[in-house]
Amino acid sequence: MRKVVLVSLDAFFTADVKGLNPEGFLAKVLREGAFCRRVNTIFPALTYPIHVTMVTGCDPDETGVGQNQPPQPGVPGNERVWYWERKHIRVPTLFDAVKEAGGRCCSILWPVGCRNPAVRWIFPEVHPLKGENPVVKALRFGTPGYILREEKRFGRLRKGIAEPWLSDYAAALAMDTVRRRAPEFTAVHWIDLDNARHHHGTFSAGAKEAIDRNDRRLEQLWKAMQETPAMKDALLVVVSDHGQEDIRETVNLTRLMEKYGLDRRFFVQSNGMSACFFPGAEYVPCDPRQVFTPEQLREMRVARLYTREDLDALHAVQGPVFAAEAAEGVAFSDALDGEKREAATHGFGPGREADLCLFAVYGRGVKKCEIPAMEMRDVGPTVAGLMGLELPRARGTDRSAELLA
Ligand SMILES: [Zn+2]
Repeated sequence: MRKVVLVSLDAFFTADVKGLNPEGFLAKVLREGAFCRRVNTIFPALTYPIHVTMVTGCDPDETGVGQNQPPQPGVPGNERVWYWERKHIRVPTLFDAVKEAGGRCCSILWPVGCRNPAVRWIFPEVHPLKGENPVVKALRFGTPGYILREEKRFGRLRKGIAEPWLSDYAAALAMDTVRRRAPEFTAVHWIDLDNARHHHGTFSAGAKEAIDRNDRRLEQLWKAMQETPAMKDALLVVVSDHGQEDIRETVNLTRLMEKYGLDRRFFVQSNGMSACFFPGAEYVPCDPRQVFTPEQLREMRVARLYTREDLDALHAVQGPVFAAEAAEGVAFSDALDGEKREAATHGFGPGREADLCLFAVYGRGVKKCEIPAMEMRDVGPTVAGLMGLELPRARGTDRSAELLA
């Protein structure tokens, strides 16, 4: 089995490629390796479902993970549980394929990667809810011995879960694990750029700095791989999940449903630039285009309604009876009043530049090439193909033959 280190640069997208520092490591990867800068992401463009699609090769209609959080009517946004655990994914993952072939896996802050029996070393992506102890929660969702050992060595790099320190910490863990354990499959997720874009804006100076930090982290990780005899032949695979767009306005759809007297018919779960409508206690089947008046749609700042048929065509998850996409510059929220407004976000539907993500492969035997387009569901089978494995349930295409010389 060919070893792979898979790095996800959260919120990096096609527009970032031309702005890369030409002297930097990622520019070198794209010059000398194989890549695609137009990987079509899924709907809605949210971190958790996309990372599940990456490692399964399936869309949300098959993985069962179509939003960051399971629907939780009446629970405030900051008190909701997320899809943290492996048990939420209904199909086999790359981690399962590696374990079945006798390989060892490591996952560091990989979304929906907690409590995964196929993974030997888990540093969990999970956060404490009201009244929970963050350390106890991490130990319960990850691999306790691994977390405690690494914490002793690198804990000084971390400031809780604040960025950019958390991504520095994740990079240090990846390098240390590569050097000491040389896993067959390492998956690591850096949130730095996503965080910078949410706070400062899509093309802000803060976002540029985060891209440069990711570039340096990648270079150090590659160096650690090259300095480790058991990792010298491993491939570095770089992926991303979605871009972002700047927002000027936030609309609380839950409050508007109350105002329109529709709050018992529908329960809304907002996903940044889109929202899913689930059936409420008094739901009766309906065409969403007949539910709202034109004035209401204007007040809701809805640019597009997706019927259940539209959602099926996009392979969206089952559950919502319809969805809405926000107008440009608008984000939906069902959080309480006083929620801090973000500068940029994602969660949008297809057809935007911010939908187009990166997939790049670097290492010995990789063909120098750019492939024009890929689907997000191609990532899983392609990584499996690079490793000499298969993901038999994947719906995406294994593109590995095009990437290797
Ligand atoms: Zn993301």
